[in-house]
This record gives sequence, C-alpha cells and structure tokens, in this order.
Amino acid sequence: MTDPLRADLDAIPRYVPGKAVPNAVKLSSNEVPYGPLPGVVEAIGAAAADVHRYPDLGVVRLREALAERLGVDFDRIATGTGSVALIGHLLQAIGVPGGEVVYSWRSFEAYPIAATVAGLESVQVPNTADHRHDVEAIIAAVGPDTRAVLVCSPNNPTGPAVTAAELDRLFDAIPERVLVVVDEAYREFVTDPACPDAIERYGHRPNAVVFRTFSKAWGLAGLRVGYMVAAPEVADAVRKVVIPFAVNVAAQTAALAALGAEGEMRRRVALVTSERKRTVMAARELVPEVPDTQSNFFWLPLGERAVEFAAHCEARAVLVRPFAGDGVRVTIGLPEENDALLDALRDFVEA
Ligand SMILES: *Cc1c(COP(=O)(O)O)cnc(C)c1O
Repeated sequence: MTDPLRADLDAIPRYVPGKAVPNAVKLSSNEVPYGPLPGVVEAIGAAAADVHRYPDLGVVRLREALAERLGVDFDRIATGTGSVALIGHLLQAIGVPGGEVVYSWRSFEAYPIAATVAGLESVQVPNTADHRHDVEAIIAAVGPDTRAVLVCSPNNPTGPAVTAAELDRLFDAIPERVLVVVDEAYREFVTDPACPDAIERYGHRPNAVVFRTFSKAWGLAGLRVGYMVAAPEVADAVRKVVIPFAVNVAAQTAALAALGAEGEMRRRVALVTSERKRTVMAARELVPEVPDTQSNFFWLPLGERAVEFAAHCEARAVLVRPFAGDGVRVTIGLPEENDALLDALRDFVEA
C-alpha cells in the first residue's frame, strides 16, 4: 500500500520519542527548568471555562500584545502551534517544484523535514570548524532556484549566534526575491552584544522573516505557541496556510499571561545564562573544543563517542541529546543538574 504515498517522504526519519526515565535529570529538550511563569497556570484555569467555544481565529489579542511589545504592525505577525509548525507553513507557502532552501548544517533537525514536506530541495552548507554558520558559503550556495535561506541564531544544536556584521553581509548579498529567515527561538538567552535582535535590525526589509517561540524562555513548550514577523504579504500568505484555529484557547490565554510576566522571565533567563557560563567553563576543562553558546544549551563535539556519552549519562539518570557521529547537545538546567552532567562528563573523559 505504498503506491498512493509520496516517495520523497521515505527520506524523512521517523520521530523517535525520548525515553521516559523516571526522576531523571532532563537536559535533552532545551526547556527552562523553573515551571510556568507566574499567572500562567491561573490563566489556563480561567480559559478552561471557555473550551466549548472555538478560539479566536485571528489570535487578535495575542498578536496585538506582540505588535506593541516588538514595535511592529499587527498585520506583520502570524502565529502557529509552535514555531516549528510555522516554519513548515512558511516553506509550504513558498514551495514550488524545483525550489531550494539553503541552510547551515548541522542545524535544527526540523528544517530538512519541513523542506521535504513542502516539496523543497535542501541545500545544506557545512558549519565552520568552530560550529558557526559559514556566511560566505551560504551566500555562494544561493542560486536561481533558491526560495529561502534559513539562519538559526543561536544555532540549535551547536550554540553560537550570528553577528550583526555577518547578517548585514547576508542580507546585502542575497537577492530580495529570496527570503532570509532568521530563527530566533533562543533570542532571550543571547548576551553577546555583537549578535543582533533580527526584528529590530532587519524587520523593515521586505524579505526578512523572523521566528520566535513561547516554548523556551517563556516556558510554554507544552502549549505550542510560536510566531513570526515578516512583510505583511508574507505574513498574510502564512496565515492562509496555517490550519484554522491552530492556536487553542488555553495557549492564547497563557501566552498573554506569560508576556505579562516578562520581568520574571528575564530573571530566570539571567539564572540560566549565569549557569551557562559556569557550566561551559567547567566543561571546557574536560573538552576544550566546546564552542561558544548564546543559548540555553551547549555542544559537546565528541564525534564518534557522542552516542556512547549519552548512554553513559543515561545510566546515571541524566538525559542529553546525542547526534550520532557528531556531538551531544546539553541543556542548561538547575545548578545541581548541571553538576550531575559535569560529574558524568568528568568520569567519561578521565576513564
Ligand atoms: C525549540 C526550537 C524552536 C521552537 O519550537 P516550537 O515549535 O516553538 O516549540 C524553533 N527553532 C529552533 C531552532 C528550536 O530549537
């Protein structure tokens, strides 16, 4: 019974859910460890009384709040069930037969899947030796069939963010008919002043698209809310592709409540970035090649030993995310969780 199915979908890997290990230290999914922001649980409780009604189709209150916060027009914002879904919708909106999408590799695993589903060819540009986007090589990979360039900044899973100089160069070198998509899922964790806020710096450009999410710093991964900022025509096209009523009643209400707790979000992010500094410094004493990170995770370039290290951690009830033959991504957690990871790393390296 494969005849009716698209043969190109065979290339998409099956999703393998992470193992549930009771009471494990979970450093595998880039979540923030402090629970929902204040006011969020109450807002979801209040929204429960309305679940017999459809949600607001236009997601108006949330989009208005985002527009005000970001200083952009309301009609330039589109929302979806997480920015992963929304990236898929954008690629569907620009996918034409023979079209290509250019992005760094290794980068976010969702990109090749979303590209294939949208019928686009992936053109993957290897990262530099220090695990950063190779901006000149990305520019060189853009051709007549390129529909979009995806920039993941900070880059999941390797950690570095692109600088303003690099992004300026990219925007200036790439023709305006090609979208430059900046995925800023981890923007709130960026501390290097050389790395720009893409909405602020490039938002006015007609081919700029910036993705953000409530899943990471805002603590709503389980409710699935993401958004993008783009030119009105691009945002409008994506809103047509998004499944109607995608962002549900509880998610809309919770996202608004989270925005109301921005101060507490910032306080938590500061805890994460200070733990990041401490943990990465300690990890570098064991694995000196750990690259810079502007995110709430860091990269252990362990090569062929990546899977072995993840198994070593799991045996100690510490869950991390291996990429076979390449490296391991480790989320920054609570101080004692990071210590458990560092102990495991020390034993692994010194064994
Ligand atoms: C986590 C993540 C997202 C956001 O995912 P959601 O679907 O919003 O939960 C987007 N891009 C990258 C690179 C990520 O790591």
